[in-house]
Formats: sequence, C-alpha cells, structure tokens
Amino acid sequence: MFAQKKTSSDIRYLDVLVPRGLVTSGRNLLNAPVTSEGLCSLRMFLGDGIIRGFDKISYCSEKCFGLLLPRLVEPHAHIDKAFTWKDFPNLSGTYEGAMKANLEEHKNRNKSKVRSRAEKLLGLGLKNGIRAIRSHVDSFGLVGGQTWDVLLEIKSEWEQKIELQLVAMVPLEYWISNEGETLAKRVSKEGGLLGGVIGPPYKKKLLRESLLNVFSLANDLGCGIDFHIDESHLDPGGGLRELLYVLDRISMDVPITCSHLSSMSLLSHKNLCFFAERLAHYNVKVVALPLTNFWLISRYYMATPVKRPLAPINQLQKAGVTVGIGGDNVQDPWNPIGDFDPLSLIAASIPMAQVAPWQREGLSTFTTGAARIMDLEWDGSFQVGSPADFILLDADSWTSALSMSPDRKVMINGAWVE
Ligand SMILES: [Zn+2]
Repeated sequence: MFAQKKTSSDIRYLDVLVPRGLVTSGRNLLNAPVTSEGLCSLRMFLGDGIIRGFDKISYCSEKCFGLLLPRLVEPHAHIDKAFTWKDFPNLSGTYEGAMKANLEEHKNRNKSKVRSRAEKLLGLGLKNGIRAIRSHVDSFGLVGGQTWDVLLEIKSEWEQKIELQLVAMVPLEYWISNEGETLAKRVSKEGGLLGGVIGPPYKKKLLRESLLNVFSLANDLGCGIDFHIDESHLDPGGGLRELLYVLDRISMDVPITCSHLSSMSLLSHKNLCFFAERLAHYNVKVVALPLTNFWLISRYYMATPVKRPLAPINQLQKAGVTVGIGGDNVQDPWNPIGDFDPLSLIAASIPMAQVAPWQREGLSTFTTGAARIMDLEWDGSFQVGSPADFILLDADSWTSALSMSPDRKVMINGAWVE
C-alpha cells in the first residue's frame, strides 16, 4: 500500500521513486542512486501547489514508495466519437468500414450525445492521470458546428482539471470555401487548430493547392495545424512528399503536427532518413498512433499482416523531430477497445513500437515530447517551481506499474483528487 497518507490538505513532501531523466534540477541529486530501470528515490518537497525542492533518500527494499509520474498528456484523441462502437460497430475492421460507420453515426449525432461521450472520456482521463488532451473534432456542416458548441462549453467547464485543445477536422478543400474560412476564424478565436485528412489516392495538383491555402489561412489567423496524414499502407509517404513540397514554397509562422505518418515506415531507409531530416528542418512534430494503426491498416482478406505501418519513431527522433505517442480512438468504429488510460498505452507501446519508458527518448513520447507537441506551459519535467501535478502509482518499478493496473492517486496543484 501507499506509504503516503491517502488524504491530507497540507502535503509537505512525498517520498517517491521518479524517472531520473525527468528531474531537471537539484544539484544535490547528482550522485543519487538509480535503479536499473532509471528510477531514483527522493523526497520531493511541496508547497503552494508547486515543487519546492528535492532531497535524495536511500531506497527502501520494502515497497514503501510509490512510482511518481507527472500527469500525462494525450496528444491525439477523438472525444466527439468515443464510445460509439456499441451502436456503430465496424466489425470488418477496415478503414473504409470505419468511415462508413462514422458517417452513419453523424446522422444521429446531437449535442447531448456529444456531451455525454466527452464527459465520460474526460472523467476517465482525470481518474487515469491525464492533464491535457488534444482532440480532433469532426467539424463539417451543421453537426460539426453543434459539436464545437458543446465541446467549447466542456473545455471551459473542465479547464481547472484538464486542458482541452480542439482540432477542426474537415476535408482539406473545405478550408478554401467561405464556410471553411468562417470556421477557421471561429477555431482561431477559440485557440484551436486546423486539421484535415491527407491519404491515398493522392491528387497532387489539388492537394498542393489545398495545402498552400490552409497553410496561408493558418499563418493569417495564427492557428496551429494538425493533419491526419498517410494513415495507410498504400503509396508510402505520398502525402508527406506533397506536404514537404508545399513547405519548400511557403514560410510558416505556426506549428505543424503530422498525426499517424504511418506509411513513412515503408519507405526505403535512404528516403525515410531524407524525409525525417526535412521534417526536422521545418520543425514539424509527429504523433505516432500504434493502437489504431495496428488494428485498422495493412488489412488483407484472410491474411495476417506482416508489415505494420507506424511512424518511424526512433528514426524521427534521431533526426531531431519531436515525437509523441497518442491513444487515438476509444471504443469507436476506428478502434473497438481502449479505456483512455495512459499506462495501458505505455504498456502497449513496449511490444508494438519497441518504445520503453526507462529510455529517455521513449519516456519523452508520453511526457515532454507530447507536451511540446501541444505547446503546453509545463513540459512535465520535475524541477523547483514546476506544478505538483502527479500520478502516484502503487508500484516500485516500471514493469510492476505496467504489468498490472496498480492503484493510483492523482494530484493537481498539490492536492489529491478525491
Ligand atoms: Zn485520429
């Protein structure tokens, strides 16, 4: 059981294990002992909702410490369609089947359904230790407008507990229309981002024109961009090639994120490295989405896929690209399972992506990298002055934390969430 008291209104310190790589201040910790999984035992002093200081303490072999993590970040979700699998299943598991079910669901979508899905997802996120979510939102037409009405209310209702960023997802050509421009102005006013889907078959001329237009619009409005791109096993890197072609011809003043980028992994090593360097050059960030990718793409009739398209996380990081890993869909036509638990995502990423949290680059995809993608005020590292905003797990190692679902407590600004 936790050594820390379950509840207290005045928590002065915590004795905990933390990932050493996340502690970025405290000279007195330089020679603190570290476990083989990179965890360091320390006393973390708290006051007024922030970290006040650190002291090293010796590791106790009895399980008296919990594993402390910053509250985590979900850089890619779909809050408006979560939990719709039950009524709109996609039993074939194909991309086309998901799209069809999604469009059916739209016919029944209304404000109260969106509110109930979003509240359920945020409730899970809070309990599971998520502090910020970037959600893509189906934003086309009347239903899209109503969805934004509800999600903006929810964003404001939840802002003390979870930061919500919204990305307007529409067909790229829509941004050229008058309606698209009106939507972009609304999105910009509300601090959102412009989105869309770039997938095969790629109509080069139209795609280039649409990209140039949405980039110009984003520059004019000061709005970030986050695209679903190359979520496929076909025409590897086809969308990325066009994105870079257009970036070579326009100077961007706003951040760009590429979500998925799955087929990039099917490129030759030489082309993959070339594209990774170009992405780094333009400071384009990437969100890898292993769960939905593994379920949905590279599907052949009666054949288990032997190639698994997924953003090449490690190669991108080596080139200097900031990469985050997201959970994407939760029990909707795009992915039938999921409980919006960042620990489950970390656990799944170990075998799926060979990303391990005891490696600095691996941990960054769920913490500092994901926070940078969302441009959050706090990157999730532990230093004097950073928020006392934590998940405390009843576990003494990464493997125990990720092999079972340990008891956990969530702290926001120095107070445990009851
Ligand atoms: Zn998505």
